[in-house]
Amino acid sequence: MAERSIPLIDLRAAQRQRPAISLDPIAPSGHVADARGRELRDLRISVTDRCNFRCSYCMPKEVFGKDHPFLPHAELLSFEEITRLAKLFVAHGVHKIRLTGGEPLLRKNIERLIEMLAALRTVDGTPLDLTLTTNASLLARKARSLRDAGLQRVTVSLDALDDAVFRRMNDVDFPVADVLAGIEAAQAAGLAPIKVNMVVKRGTNDQEIVPMARHFRSSGIALRFIEYMDVGATNGWRMDEVLPSAEVRARLAEHFELRPLDASAPGETAERWAYADGAGEVGFISSVTQAFCGDCNRARLSTEGQLYLCLFASRGHDLRALLRDPAVSDAQIAGAIARIWHVRQDRYSELRGRAELPPEARERRVEMSYIGG
Ligand code: SAM
Ligand code: SF4
Ligand code: SF4
Repeated sequence: MAERSIPLIDLRAAQRQRPAISLDPIAPSGHVADARGRELRDLRISVTDRCNFRCSYCMPKEVFGKDHPFLPHAELLSFEEITRLAKLFVAHGVHKIRLTGGEPLLRKNIERLIEMLAALRTVDGTPLDLTLTTNASLLARKARSLRDAGLQRVTVSLDALDDAVFRRMNDVDFPVADVLAGIEAAQAAGLAPIKVNMVVKRGTNDQEIVPMARHFRSSGIALRFIEYMDVGATNGWRMDEVLPSAEVRARLAEHFELRPLDASAPGETAERWAYADGAGEVGFISSVTQAFCGDCNRARLSTEGQLYLCLFASRGHDLRALLRDPAVSDAQIAGAIARIWHVRQDRYSELRGRAELPPEARERRVEMSYIGG
């Protein structure tokens, strides 16, 4: 196969600048809305930019090769720094925290971070909805210790059941049996509910849709089909490789009767459908064909402490600079977070392909492995 050459625009260093924002303290009220009235509820934290897989839609080998400059350890937020920020986000109304990456289970002693986050309480005094997205390569080994540390549930990414297709997609020859063993270990450890995410690429793994549905029916695990997205700038995304969720559903409908379900939470990304025979549910995450920016309540914290307001953003806000400045207090950082969120206008998926999309959003998007999915 001819080698693809895709320039990697390294946006990381260019963005490392203190947010040009007032540092007047703001006492968090438990609610902060953006310029479109969307409240901050969900925080995704990338704990590492490294991964042991090279899924072509996320970290293509040609770009993320042996010489790729991953972040040195000192650049990463420490667990104490992550927890300090998480506390402030929770005080602003965040109820859900998802750890992601890269591959979050590669971060050393991740259980310690989970313990620290599990101790936080929402503004209503309830435990956080604390979860993690993983490729499950290390899950068989870690499910029990993650549960013991206070993780409640887990989302596993799995794109095929066929071993050859799966090995091709992860591009490091990783066997599907080990991922399935990870899912079983998570079930045995009591991590629940478990979700499985399948990115569907037309012509690559769409033949796996029905086998995947058949496998996870009646298992208590919700399978979610994700439209292949144009995140980052390196995956060579093409619209003709996107299989719209409507088509995925039509393929399923040839085998199973499905009924739509109501959304279980505002801002939920997946449209949920139930098997009419009671065998559980499936979800569809249709960020390409059915944008859900209207109630997007998600903030993203990169591995080195940049706050991103959208998965498709081209720049972040350097909260680490504030954390590491001994003269800046928690109340000042809380004020900065509130002000950054207040002016948020992002709605990339709604504007995709439209003229109003700022040119930099077309060309300079941050990689998903860096800010997390
Ligand atoms: N390594 C972990 C994993 O794969 O679960 C966590 C990080 S990964 C970036 C988070 C999620 O993003 C995964 O479910 C992955 O399938 C999804 N993802 C990555 N690139 C994508 C793309 N181009 N389109 C749709 N989903 C994508
Ligand atoms: Fe790694 Fe997850 Fe990206 Fe695949 S999707 S390369 S497992 S970070
Ligand atoms: Fe949220 Fe941005 Fe995705 Fe829209 S495109 S749903 S604003 S992350």
